[in-house]
Amino acid sequence: MSNFDFVPKSIDAAAIQLGEGTTVRISSAIIQRTTALRAYSSYAAAGNWMEKLSTAYIVAIATRSADSWLMQDIQNHIPEEPRISCPKCREATIGLHVIRGRLFPRLGQLRKHANKLIHHLDKPENRGVDGLNILGVFDYCYHLFQENTDALFRHIPSATFPLALCKSCKAVRAL
Ligand SMILES: [Zn+2]
Repeated sequence: MSNFDFVPKSIDAAAIQLGEGTTVRISSAIIQRTTALRAYSSYAAAGNWMEKLSTAYIVAIATRSADSWLMQDIQNHIPEEPRISCPKCREATIGLHVIRGRLFPRLGQLRKHANKLIHHLDKPENRGVDGLNILGVFDYCYHLFQENTDALFRHIPSATFPLALCKSCKAVRAL
């Protein structure tokens, strides 16, 4: 099947970087990273499309999990002064999808390919895999662990998150 017919670009799998002086820094989400990259690198040697599909599924799950872990970690480190008391406003201001959209917009686009693959395979009534963007799943993995590898070593791009009000709070303010 042609949507399985590609060779993933290579990713530098090192999970440890040299830090200041003699220190080393270890990647966050290391279990997800190891799982994703092991599957990623075995794709080219997979014997048939079924094997390739199961490899792609692992890449999708593990990359998505690392992505969510990273967004949650970033959210935990956003200074909130004062704390946003309404949960809906908080979600609109610093929800995980808001953080991803502002700091890693392409990651958000590529994540859709992983979501689609996972949802498709999780439903037994779904048949056929021609419509799945397998390469998109691998691009998602590459984008997170290669192009944004620094983020997993805690070099987070800076951004501000202006308060966004939810619908009901907006309505209250408008009174
Ligand atoms: Zn609100």
